[in-house]
Amino acid sequence: MQITSKLPNVGTTIFTVMSAMANEYGAINLSQGFPNFPTSERLNDLVTEHLRVGHNQYAPMMGVRELQEQIAHKIKLMYGVEVDPIQEVTITSGATEGLFTSIAALVHRGEEVIILEPAYDSYRPAIEVVGGVPVIYQLFAPDFKIDWDAVQALITERTRMIVINTPTNPTGAAFSPEDMQALERITADTNILVLSDEVYEHLIYDGLEHQSVLRYPKLRERSLAVYSFGKTFHKTGWRIGYCVAPPELTAEFRKVHQFNTFSINTPIQYALADFLKDPREYLELPDFFQKKRDFFLQQLEGSRLKPLTCSGTYFHLFDYSEISDMPEREFAAWMTREIGVAAIPVSAFYSNGHNNGVIRLCFAKTESTLKAATERLQSM
Ligand code: PMP
Ligand code: GLN
Repeated sequence: MQITSKLPNVGTTIFTVMSAMANEYGAINLSQGFPNFPTSERLNDLVTEHLRVGHNQYAPMMGVRELQEQIAHKIKLMYGVEVDPIQEVTITSGATEGLFTSIAALVHRGEEVIILEPAYDSYRPAIEVVGGVPVIYQLFAPDFKIDWDAVQALITERTRMIVINTPTNPTGAAFSPEDMQALERITADTNILVLSDEVYEHLIYDGLEHQSVLRYPKLRERSLAVYSFGKTFHKTGWRIGYCVAPPELTAEFRKVHQFNTFSINTPIQYALADFLKDPREYLELPDFFQKKRDFFLQQLEGSRLKPLTCSGTYFHLFDYSEISDMPEREFAAWMTREIGVAAIPVSAFYSNGHNNGVIRLCFAKTESTLKAATERLQSM
């Protein structure tokens, strides 16, 4: 039997590869982005409670009403905008499903989707598997600044969508109001949709405000905004998130969602609806993670890893040019084996494997893990 791959150039994700290597060599894993600190027991108890009261059958396809409503409250509190919980909020199996379903539902064969690299690794294969054409605009270290006129120059009559991600994985950059206004300008009077990956909406530092597409009326009407409870409440294994989009986009989104996952884990949806009633659970996150970032940087002071700027996410980039001129993949593998700390090569986020000579380290870890890791990193 002959199989013709739809994704001939896709291998195993770099996160899986580097976490496996960390396990193999017993290295401290600062590669894949997930927290290693204890996560909310209250939220665990709420799930147990809802299991016990019998919330164990199919949830509604679009999500449990109570959760849709709590999400709408949260959006009002965070961004000052009203969204219709029933017509505009769909619960998804993590942001990953939200991203994939958005692309599958709205990008037709041969249509172009602009992505900004370094880009999260799921965008491109999702576009390719539905027959779309990724159009790449590359950003470079140290500041990964976006020239929106250059992005506009990539727009053709076939452009269907632009994917953005702020705060940005892996760069740690955060879009400014000027970036959002530029995006508004270049999409005005077009049929271009915006797919806005906002999984790190609460992980933003130094007093900056998250620039959600939901805050910008002209962007909001053409946008699907994707979020992750895994990231927000430190339960990346629960696989739950949501997509917010105007009713006519949500209707198309749900046509695919219903045949992709049908609906999402019922007791977890009820538990999250209860948990969201206390906004402190997410309002305290910037402070919590900024402290971790600052502790991590302080522990690395004087090291030969030179920090770039991290305004958001729980990832920090470091320039290793004082230590080695190896390409990033090689350097990350060497560091995992020889130094005992696993990292992500940022080249994995570029389709042509561009090397900036920087690695990504995740600081969503306990102080003792960060201390042990930075002691090793100081020895390089
Ligand atoms: N987008 C970005 C930028 C991410 O870093 C991640 C990884 N968490 C996702 C989407 C996927 O999120 P989830 O785990 O909720 O599927
Ligand atoms: N988003 C996480 C990261 O960037 C990993 C998610 C995954 O492993 N699929 O590290």
